[in-house]
Amino acid sequence: MKFNLTDKLLRHVDKQRKVYPQHVNRISSIGFPCLRACVYMITNWHDKELPTRELQLIFNEGRHQEKAVKQDFEDAGIKVIRQEESVWFEAERLSGHADGVIIYGRAQIGLEIKSMSTHIFNKINSAEDLINSEYGYHQCYVPQIQLYMCGQGLKNGIIFIKDKNSGAFKELPIVSNKDWQSFYFAKCLSINIRVDKIKSVLKETYQIKELADFSKRKDFNDYLEIRNEAYKLIEEYLPERIKEDNICKECPFNRICLPDEVRQERIAVWINEELEELLSKREILKENRAEYERIDSEVKEKIKDSGRDFLIIGAFEVKVSRGKTTRIDIKRQAVAE
Ligand code: SF4
Repeated sequence: MKFNLTDKLLRHVDKQRKVYPQHVNRISSIGFPCLRACVYMITNWHDKELPTRELQLIFNEGRHQEKAVKQDFEDAGIKVIRQEESVWFEAERLSGHADGVIIYGRAQIGLEIKSMSTHIFNKINSAEDLINSEYGYHQCYVPQIQLYMCGQGLKNGIIFIKDKNSGAFKELPIVSNKDWQSFYFAKCLSINIRVDKIKSVLKETYQIKELADFSKRKDFNDYLEIRNEAYKLIEEYLPERIKEDNICKECPFNRICLPDEVRQERIAVWINEELEELLSKREILKENRAEYERIDSEVKEKIKDSGRDFLIIGAFEVKVSRGKTTRIDIKRQAVAE
């Protein structure tokens, strides 16, 4: 009997795969190490690719783990208050929801919960490991808790990381740091200025499009010219592209950001000498395998055509089993000392 539970669950997961509009800076992503991407998050949120089903499952798992950790805290008598509290910085147009605050004696400690797979968990032992991580989303974690601590008026916080495979956990202590917070507030202001300029160009272009009568060739050509000018202006307002392939590779905007030739160039960077040597060896083995298969089938055809069931050919012993399909076993005879 089949219950189709998996299908039902996966259909539900597919419905959760959405790209949500973003109109302001988000505390959870303001630490992403590319200013251009942070601008795109607001001006081009609709160009983000839908998360794959696999990625959606990972997001869901992260949420389940967060709930489980909070439950574990409660079971252990650790009080978590102010869960999902909104944090909003008006001037910077920066918003987010903090995971919670731990009551520790008379103090309140900011809490951010992150789950990760074993191979990443083993590498992360301090806030510096997150800041220096090769993954852009890891680089967001420390700014995230710093900004929550600032918004919630807290002096201390912890990033609580959990290995989702083994259930092991570690706590990374974070002390509120005004310099960090100011840096990200300045980043927001820089993003906002660019976003406003880009939005104003887009608005004007849309208005012209609305007024144009595309049945008239002149209107159509004029509009194309205006649109091209708008694109040039937008390119000026967008921050420079970064040159970090590992970050661009995971960036949700690389499809609209990187020109084809840059992508080509960046693909070339991934080919290093060691890899090139391995690829060459692989190619030789592949060719040998193709050659082996060609000779093997030629040999077996000839043996099949001989009509014999057992043959000794030089140092080789050949056994032929005939049935619906013919099976041919070839063995090299043991050489006498
Ligand atoms: S693809 Fe690279 S340069 Fe472009 S927005 Fe993303 S991270 Fe920045």
